[in-house]
Amino acid sequence: MSEYSPPLEDMKFALKQVVDVDSLSKLPDFSEVGLEALDALLDEASRFFNEVISPTNRTGDLEGSSLNDDGSVSTPTGFREAYAQYVEAGWGAISFDPEYGGGGFPWLVGIAVTEMLTAANMALSLNPMLTQGSIHALSAHGDQDQKLAWLPKLITGEWSGTMNLTEPQAGSDVGALTTKAERQENGTYKITGQKIYITWGEHDLTDNIIHLVLARTPDAPPGTKGISLFIVPKFLVNDDGSLGDENDIKCLSIEHKLGIHASPTCVLQFGDNGGALGYIVGEENSGMRSMFTMMNQARLAVGLEGLAVADRAYQQALDYAIERMQGRRTDTPKGESVPIIDHPDVRRMLMTMKAYIEAMRCLIYLNAKAIDIAHHHPDAEERERGNELTDLLTPLSKSWCTDLGNELTSLGIQIHGGMGFVEETGAAQHYRDIRIAGIYEGTNGIQAVDLVGRKLAMRNGDVVRELLTEISETATNLITADLEGIGNALEYAVKDMQEATEWLVEKGGASTDDGLAGATPYLRMFGTTVGGWLLAKSALQAKNLLDEGDDSEFLKAKIETALFYSEQLLPQVSGLLPSVISGARSLYAITPDKLRG
Ligand SMILES: Cc1cc2nc3c(=O)[nH]c(=O)nc-3n(C[C@H](O)[C@H](O)[C@H](O)COP(=O)(O)OP(=O)(O)OC[C@H]3O[C@@H](n4cnc5c(N)ncnc54)[C@H](O)[C@@H]3O)c2cc1C
Repeated sequence: MSEYSPPLEDMKFALKQVVDVDSLSKLPDFSEVGLEALDALLDEASRFFNEVISPTNRTGDLEGSSLNDDGSVSTPTGFREAYAQYVEAGWGAISFDPEYGGGGFPWLVGIAVTEMLTAANMALSLNPMLTQGSIHALSAHGDQDQKLAWLPKLITGEWSGTMNLTEPQAGSDVGALTTKAERQENGTYKITGQKIYITWGEHDLTDNIIHLVLARTPDAPPGTKGISLFIVPKFLVNDDGSLGDENDIKCLSIEHKLGIHASPTCVLQFGDNGGALGYIVGEENSGMRSMFTMMNQARLAVGLEGLAVADRAYQQALDYAIERMQGRRTDTPKGESVPIIDHPDVRRMLMTMKAYIEAMRCLIYLNAKAIDIAHHHPDAEERERGNELTDLLTPLSKSWCTDLGNELTSLGIQIHGGMGFVEETGAAQHYRDIRIAGIYEGTNGIQAVDLVGRKLAMRNGDVVRELLTEISETATNLITADLEGIGNALEYAVKDMQEATEWLVEKGGASTDDGLAGATPYLRMFGTTVGGWLLAKSALQAKNLLDEGDDSEFLKAKIETALFYSEQLLPQVSGLLPSVISGARSLYAITPDKLRG
């Protein structure tokens, strides 16, 4: 069973050479935070997640969390101790507002640390992830008293947070939710209703759980316009900060799932005994707006899961491929068997994993940096550009990376042969764990609709066109830097992307079935192109450093990886173009009653 070692050299390269983390230290909010000590911070995080969190991954999968008769939930052996150390070290706090106890680092740095946490134990990482979502929503929409009351302990991780949207009849269609909120004379609300699939909705890691719940007031308009957001704590909090009475919330059951067994996915009943006490966040009926605030960050965090779990699967597959002796090569003396890594097909699988993982890392980091600029740049135009880039990249990060997470963890199993299918190696856990990431936080299908709808519509398509122009400029730079193989492949991809984009704009994006039919292949084309662009930038930077005299094997491998991507993976963009521009006719040609054949 292999453990996880954070790929620090590649992480630092992506942070510094590709997305230029140092430029953030010029922003006033980050000038004092100590970004020059970033290497030391990442080194320490790497040690912590490798030694303390990673060993809990397997026990978490085998034991899972369990529901007790009294409605409490017990986490697997070692989780409480590991989580306590995580809180003690302050890893969850590093990117939050210092006014409430955060470390004030850019979100980009937080994402790099979260990558290590997620790869070390995805199921456990969901607890801080949901807590961070709650912090974002409260920071943006809570009043000052609420921030002072709830943020400090959420930021340290002493309390955890949850997001309660889903109900049996309200999944992708959040507007169909029916949980009720009735205003009391003192301004608080009584919440009644049932939420399903609530991640870490009940557990034993923290003293209190702060549920953020979407509900409807009695006279609210239908759909998403009539949704309000409430803070509903597991334990009420007294004025002196001590914990008071238990709120009227019960965990009825936890789901038995394909993966992330340690993450309790709860059915929560609010208000069986008269109503759970809730405090409104913002105005009545403004709940969806509040949710949208934290959506970009939450979706990026889910995209990060694709990267992180794929990376762990890659590390394990690589170790196995070096050790496993099987088959011969014509060039081996006396026909001796060779490690499977010597076979071209196994190399292809490993290189595919490596290239996509490095491309995903660059995309996720670029997306996180755009969030930092959108929130912290002193110049309004730069903030707007950061917002636009965030909006555009987020569905790519979420869907492209989680689809790849599924595909690459499957390749990880394939490299193991039969031992991959056998649970004892642990390769199957990665495949099972990551499967959910394409489903929650807005399914990947919904992300694709968002991309061809809201995102493509930004400035009538100009936000996309400008990014494609920038990618094309990188392609030209590669050609002049003697990396024409990579540059030419990138230019072909851009041309196909331009054709697909103009076709979708002409079809009206998400407003027609033809546009919607092309949404998922378009998202795949887009992600693959952006991934190719960022690896191409990596190759350019590596070449510059090599030309300046740095002779590292890591830099040479960067160029080779980008070349592999441009030869083996980027050409898929051209193959996807017909799927985007074929329209919906063939999807609907067979009526539902005839689909069974
Ligand atoms: C392990 C786990 C953890 C979760 N954690 C949380 C949590 O913490 N909090 C929370 O509130 N929820 C949570 N969820 C719920 C999750 O967000 C939903 O499952 C998800 O939004 C999809 O909703 P659904 O399951 O009802 O599927 P449906 O909405 O029924 O979708 C089924 C299929 O139809 C497609 N589809 C539906 N509508 C459209 C459309 N308009 N256009 C195109 N395709 C469409 C979907 O893409 C999907 O492929 C969790 C779920 C799981 C399984």
